[in-house]
Amino acid sequence: MRKDDCLFCKIVAGEIPSTKVYEDDRVLAFEDVNPQMPVHTLIVPKNHYDNIGDGIPDEEMGYLFNTVKKVAEIKGIAESGYRVIVNTNDDAQQTVHHIHVHVLGGAPMNSGNP
Ligand code: 5GP
Ligand code: ZN
Repeated sequence: MRKDDCLFCKIVAGEIPSTKVYEDDRVLAFEDVNPQMPVHTLIVPKNHYDNIGDGIPDEEMGYLFNTVKKVAEIKGIAESGYRVIVNTNDDAQQTVHHIHVHVLGGAPMNSGNP
């Protein structure tokens, strides 16, 4: 289930290069090209969904979020802490419309509230 004009579908397919952090048959985690923190990794399901509101099945959503802790372990931030963000639609400034989880860490952050 890919969408032809989608950047992250192209990254999943290997048509656009990325720095891989973790991959299995369902998800891909890769480094954000413009990191906002010392650790800034994105996790995407291999299937295309625009965002949280796009009918992603519970099981797929659960798998996506369970991948967060694997990525945190791999990146060495499981103990020090990290922030998980899923920008959704315009007010949140979602720019890539293939659901993705930002995992941010590696240094202390400001308050999580906007
Ligand atoms: P959004 O604002 O949609 O939540 O975040 C999209 C993220 O994708 C941004 O943090 C941006 O830096 C990242 N990004 C955009 N294009 C690319 C790309 O071609 N490769 C990688 N690795 N990250 C990208
Ligand atoms: Zn896509």
